[in-house]
Amino acid sequence: MDDRICLSPFCGARAPHALPRCPACGRPTFGRDQIAARGRHLVLLGLILAGVVGTVVWFWWSALHPAAAGQPVSGFRGTGFEARTLLFAFTALILTGICFTASGAMMLAGRSSRTPTRAALILFAAALVAIVTCLASAYGR
Ligand SMILES: [Zn+2]
Repeated sequence: MDDRICLSPFCGARAPHALPRCPACGRPTFGRDQIAARGRHLVLLGLILAGVVGTVVWFWWSALHPAAAGQPVSGFRGTGFEARTLLFAFTALILTGICFTASGAMMLAGRSSRTPTRAALILFAAALVAIVTCLASAYGR
């Protein structure tokens, strides 16, 4: 098995021979060992992301949760809308981490990881939009 795989989340073509470049999109292709090594990094990255953001939510929950319900709390100075938007952003970031971990696990198993990789990118974009929305709302006050 000297198949090489294109890791682009929007391509994922297989190169039957040891082609260094994807025949479909021109990006680099990777052999099974390289994909497994990248999969390990992705699993680790996903777990760290989910763990760090999960810890932030864990410590901030007692202030953020009532703030999201519109109650005034000392630990959060934003509005209820901003608290809800932040919680959405954190949730999206944790799910991004879980998707990265799933993607890495699939790469370790030598399978295509396009679906969880795409999901991770969409979730990450959603988290960024939510954070920007929150910042814009805070500056608008
Ligand atoms: Zn490709």
